[in-house]
Amino acid sequence: MRRYRKAKIVATVGPSSASPEMLRRLFVAGVDVFRMNFSHGAQADHAAVYHSIRALEVECKRPIAILQDLQGPKIRIGAIDGGQRAIAAGDAVAFVLGGPAQADDIPLPHKEIFDSIAPGQEILIDDGRVRARVEAIEDRRFTARVVTGGMLSSRKGVNLPGVMLGLSPLTEKDRADLAFGLELGVDWVALSFVQSAADMIEARALVGDRAALMAKIERPSALTNIEDIVQLSDGIMVARGDLGVEIPAEDVPARQKEIIRQCRLASKPVIVATQMLDSMVNAPAPTRAEASDVATAIYDGADAVMLSAESASGKYPVEAVAMMDKIIGKTEAHEFYRSIVTAIEPDLEFTPPHVVAESAASIADRLGATVVAAFTSSGVTAARIARQRPAAPVVALTPHESVARRLCLLWGAHSVLSADIQSYEEMVQRATQATLDEGFAAANRHIVIVGGIPFGEAGSTNNIRVVQIAA
Ligand code: PEP
Repeated sequence: MRRYRKAKIVATVGPSSASPEMLRRLFVAGVDVFRMNFSHGAQADHAAVYHSIRALEVECKRPIAILQDLQGPKIRIGAIDGGQRAIAAGDAVAFVLGGPAQADDIPLPHKEIFDSIAPGQEILIDDGRVRARVEAIEDRRFTARVVTGGMLSSRKGVNLPGVMLGLSPLTEKDRADLAFGLELGVDWVALSFVQSAADMIEARALVGDRAALMAKIERPSALTNIEDIVQLSDGIMVARGDLGVEIPAEDVPARQKEIIRQCRLASKPVIVATQMLDSMVNAPAPTRAEASDVATAIYDGADAVMLSAESASGKYPVEAVAMMDKIIGKTEAHEFYRSIVTAIEPDLEFTPPHVVAESAASIADRLGATVVAAFTSSGVTAARIARQRPAAPVVALTPHESVARRLCLLWGAHSVLSADIQSYEEMVQRATQATLDEGFAAANRHIVIVGGIPFGEAGSTNNIRVVQIAA
């Protein structure tokens, strides 16, 4: 089974899509990576989904990536007396660390906020629907003036744009969920509310090489530290939901482009996430603006686009995946696409692995090759070729099932499990066979094969061979 597009589709699993039958329909419609969102659901539910996806892999004979998205240190207000109450612009409200001293105090059970807050700071509640500005601070209590009023309900999310909070990116719940996910065998782990390089180092110490590590970019401090975060991650998610609350909405499109470019330069896959086809939660077709948003992410050069509520809890999960598949297909087939997506010239390190990968992509383009076949042990060679955004698909041959699965997220990559090669002849034979078996062959067209000699030595990408498929 092969897909005819380069950019990938990530779909969040939830009540609308968790049954084996729905997972199967979503995969057939185009999902490459399933996201298990640990902000919701019990571990046992995620385990059931995990096993259904692994069964689907066996049935469809294709690797499928599973992304575990950890909740992270999401900040919420505590319980409001009576469940909710309205507050109006101009009101003075008080936030308190412990239980409310007065009936209308708003509990905020996060000590780190009281350590970092300053007068003038904006405090946003419920995705920014309610906004207030901090005025006076006392021990374990501060007052704020409401700027935009609205309904305050118990446990609503809080954002403090620009504040660097002294928080670990992994809460106790995250640590337990992470251990659970790694034990199951998830392929990617996404960290929420990453703020700095130190967060990635802390997470890497726990994850090791048991899964690929993704940083979700949703805080302004992550934007400030983006270069280091990208370097320390295996992939990135532009998490526009929280990002669009923490920075002005009008800044999100340019930031999206900057993050994608940064990832492209570093050969790290990047997902554009949140509200892509949001109206399809309730309707069988998207708005024109949503279709354009998906296409823009594709023109920006994203590796993948993501569905959240559309596939997790919406009424039309299969239609949403099929729509994303169609939009990507149309965009990639458009005459402007290649010139736009190849306009970024990644700065190259002049080392053999980088230069060989770039040259292979360029040879493939010039010959109109049917595939670039890359022997890749860690997946990095495939990523370096994909970074060049060649016209041909990148058939990634790897002996590791975990790498084959991780690469499902990579632009243009078609993973094939292949035992370690022992000789040059075997390299050519396996690459040619995979091209035929996977349905990429066309008479007289070329295959550009990339590998490293000596075989099996990581980072030794130093060889390009061009073969022609028989007439
Ligand atoms: C987001 O904020 O855009 C996002 C993907 O994170 P979550 O859905 O986990 O809040």
